[in-house]
Amino acid sequence: MSEEIHKEVISSWLNKNEIEKTISAGLNGPPEIKKAEKNRYLGQFRERVMKMLTKGQVSQPATYPEIAEALRDPRSFKLIINGDIPDVFTVKYQKLTKQLGKSYSLVNDPEFTGETGLIVVSKKAVDVPEIDVPDREVRLKGLGIPQELINLAGKKLCPRCYAMIIKVAPEEAINYQVISWFDSLMGERCPASGLH
Ligand SMILES: [Zn+2]
Repeated sequence: MSEEIHKEVISSWLNKNEIEKTISAGLNGPPEIKKAEKNRYLGQFRERVMKMLTKGQVSQPATYPEIAEALRDPRSFKLIINGDIPDVFTVKYQKLTKQLGKSYSLVNDPEFTGETGLIVVSKKAVDVPEIDVPDREVRLKGLGIPQELINLAGKKLCPRCYAMIIKVAPEEAINYQVISWFDSLMGERCPASGLH
């Protein structure tokens, strides 16, 4: 092989390799960036994440209705929970996921970074632009719901207090129950005493 041809062969190989590298980087991004991204989203690609809650949001007594909504979306595949969060806070999301016929898993990895508490993911790239969920308290206050009622998530309320929330935020039905006739017969009273 003459030196000229030899150079050409090498240069064509290098070029092809560069093109392949570029295509591969375009499709998947440089591997080290993808690794950092996956560590941020509990081992998942950002493009597959539909909704996420921070550790702080998961650790609140209320269940975020945005997660129920994402799990009802036919594109969603499963819920992934950060295993660092105590079970007492994540059990409500495990139950919700089962009720909605989806599966969940708890994951741990010392390389995980950031404040991700849980995510709802799809099997494929969905590229949801806004995956963060606004703080529940701030959102409900903005709708004019009294602080006392916001704090009573998970409790039974009198029909009047219940209606005060559900009229403006129907999705919050996930967090409250109504005191039944039988409950009141058994002496149960609405805990929102400041509003009566
Ligand atoms: Zn009440």
